[in-house]
Amino acid sequence: YTGKDSNQLIKEEVSRKIVKDYKAPPIIIQESSSVYDAICTLFLEDVGTLFVVNSKNHLAGVVSRKDLLRAALGKQNLEDMPVSIIMTRMPNIVVSLPEDSLLDAAKKLIDYQIDSLPVVRPVQDGSRSAYEVVGRVTKTTITRGFVEFGNEVSV
Ligand code: ADP
Repeated sequence: YTGKDSNQLIKEEVSRKIVKDYKAPPIIIQESSSVYDAICTLFLEDVGTLFVVNSKNHLAGVVSRKDLLRAALGKQNLEDMPVSIIMTRMPNIVVSLPEDSLLDAAKKLIDYQIDSLPVVRPVQDGSRSAYEVVGRVTKTTITRGFVEFGNEVSV
């Protein structure tokens, strides 16, 4: 037997899992939103990370639980503080494309020690390139893919 060994088959099966098929809807706020509103959205939407967009609806930043906790430790009024001053901003955002494999997305979460990636579609903004946010990949997304994979494998 000279066909593919089981390692190769497993690798092919894992690579077949694509971000597009697993991504969840993104939870998005405007960069003019206050930190207070961001905290409310985090609870209402039951997520850990919010994606921040500008007036053109292009990705401007990411705000995480810890970013919001840090801001809440300060003495400022959270209703007067725009999220744009505390978010991690472009171009320092790690993103995923719909066509990427779930494995590549998982590697980014590990390499950059983050909980979630915006799934984006590149768009042109004049002479600059920008991103439209079309989904999210989180540790939950990866875990679901992993569980599904375990259930598919029959030895
Ligand atoms: P938390 O801080 O709530 O544990 P993360 O580990 O995801 O959540 O975030 C750690 C830091 O990395 C935060 O400052 C956050 O703004 C930033 N961050 C989160 N996701 C991304 C991303 N996709 N690209 C770049 N920075 C990110």
